[in-house]
This record gives sequence, structure tokens and C-alpha cells, in this order.
Amino acid sequence: MRKCKCPNKNHNLAFPPIRICPQCGEILNFMIPENSCSAATHVRKSAQNDAYCTDCGEYLLSQMHG
Ligand SMILES: [Zn+2]
Ligand SMILES: [Zn+2]
Repeated sequence: MRKCKCPNKNHNLAFPPIRICPQCGEILNFMIPENSCSAATHVRKSAQNDAYCTDCGEYLLSQMHG
């Protein structure tokens, strides 16, 4: 049982291609190493409506508040 009902389909995969769920920030695949991203990477991800960075798990939407 999951504590949150995240609609992201990657939760149903045995081997998700991303480390972090972009919608809830939960770690999907522990086998993928954590990445250190550039600010430009986070801007691109947030433009794709990702709430969390799929590489490092940082919450992206908070950056919009400066
Ligand atoms: Zn999720
Ligand atoms: Zn990141």
C-alpha cells in the first residue's frame, strides 16, 4: 500500500527509467545514482510541468517563488 496515490505510471514499473518521481518526489529506482543538476536542467524540467527533478529529487516549483 502506498501512502500517496500518485498517478505517475513509473510507480508501476519494475525498473523505472528515472530515479525520482516527477509528481510526488518519491524514489522510484534506487539503482539510478543521484545526479547533480545544473539550474538550466531544472528550468527545463519545470517547464515540462515536473514538480520534482527526476535526477536529484529537488522540488522545482518552489524556485518560482524566488
Ligand atoms: Zn509519484
Ligand atoms: Zn535535479
